[in-house]
Amino acid sequence: METIVWLIVPCYNEEDALNFTIQALLEKIRELTQCSKVSSHSKILFVDDGSSDSTWDIICRAHQKDSTVTGIKLAHNQGHQNALLAGMLYAKNKCDCIISLDADLQDDIGVLGEFIDKYQDGCQVVYGIRKSRKKDSWFKRNTAQLFYKLMHVAGGEVIYNHADYRLMSRKALNALEQFEEVNLFLRGIIPLIGMKSDFVLYERNERVAGKSKYPLKKMIAFAIQGITSFSVKPLKMITWLGAIFSIVSLSGLLYALISYFCGVTVKGWTAIVCSIWLMGGVVMLSIGVLGEYIGKIYSEVKKRPKYIIDEELKDD
Ligand code: UDP
Ligand code: MG
Repeated sequence: METIVWLIVPCYNEEDALNFTIQALLEKIRELTQCSKVSSHSKILFVDDGSSDSTWDIICRAHQKDSTVTGIKLAHNQGHQNALLAGMLYAKNKCDCIISLDADLQDDIGVLGEFIDKYQDGCQVVYGIRKSRKKDSWFKRNTAQLFYKLMHVAGGEVIYNHADYRLMSRKALNALEQFEEVNLFLRGIIPLIGMKSDFVLYERNERVAGKSKYPLKKMIAFAIQGITSFSVKPLKMITWLGAIFSIVSLSGLLYALISYFCGVTVKGWTAIVCSIWLMGGVVMLSIGVLGEYIGKIYSEVKKRPKYIIDEELKDD
């Protein structure tokens, strides 16, 4: 039996890129259908993540022209990860597997056939891994590298140079559905599912049109989300930091006592001021880390829905 695949494409204000993307993906699906790699019931699902431009209109028009294109519209902008999850869970019972990719076609669609081959060989998850980051800016390349290192130190295991270009089978999606966390970091959760997996190498292109929806502020928030959702190591590090500072301050105390008995107590103002600032900084940083985790617990216990589907396109 031929594989029914759904491509899941989250879109947030992508009107500049979308027409091109729709055409390119339709052609690709046609090509894969012709060589009998995928079924003609395969679809391209665009998830409009609460866009404020004409993204949804473009999706609706494309759906009217060709029902291979379909879409859901989220009621609010919930961020890339939630939009992706909404799409994956929506598609879950309608296909054999999904492949998630970005609306700007930065993920090379030339390798889609390889994903399907690996699925047909029995893989439940296939990760798209970038061959190189030559086309990224110096800044993006280095901050990304730093993120992977921090993530590793903090104890969260993510696959190096893998973003959200991946295939998941229905079985893997069923497993993913059981992870109920609100603080979603798919790259960290999916490796936890286990099951047979493999990877496909690809070259990351430049955006076909429009601007990145991940400015520095969002990138930092995403990195903090990744680290704190997967590891309590930062909390443990605070304890160690506290222990080290206590030992250091004990020797400071010893020094102060010796100075007192030697009669040179007026000096040392600089040292005191510096240590007050340093300790103040360390204490505030530590409280900040605690706050991050408490904030997470807060949003987890509230169990608010991760997304709300406002509209969906259905075949006649
Ligand atoms: N995206 C989304 N919701 C958001 C931000 C981004 O659905 O709040 C989508 C966006 O339309 C794109 C994908 O996520 O399809 C990746 O975003 P982008 O290309 O802007 O990120 P970058 O590649 O620059 O990291
Ligand atoms: Mg992009």
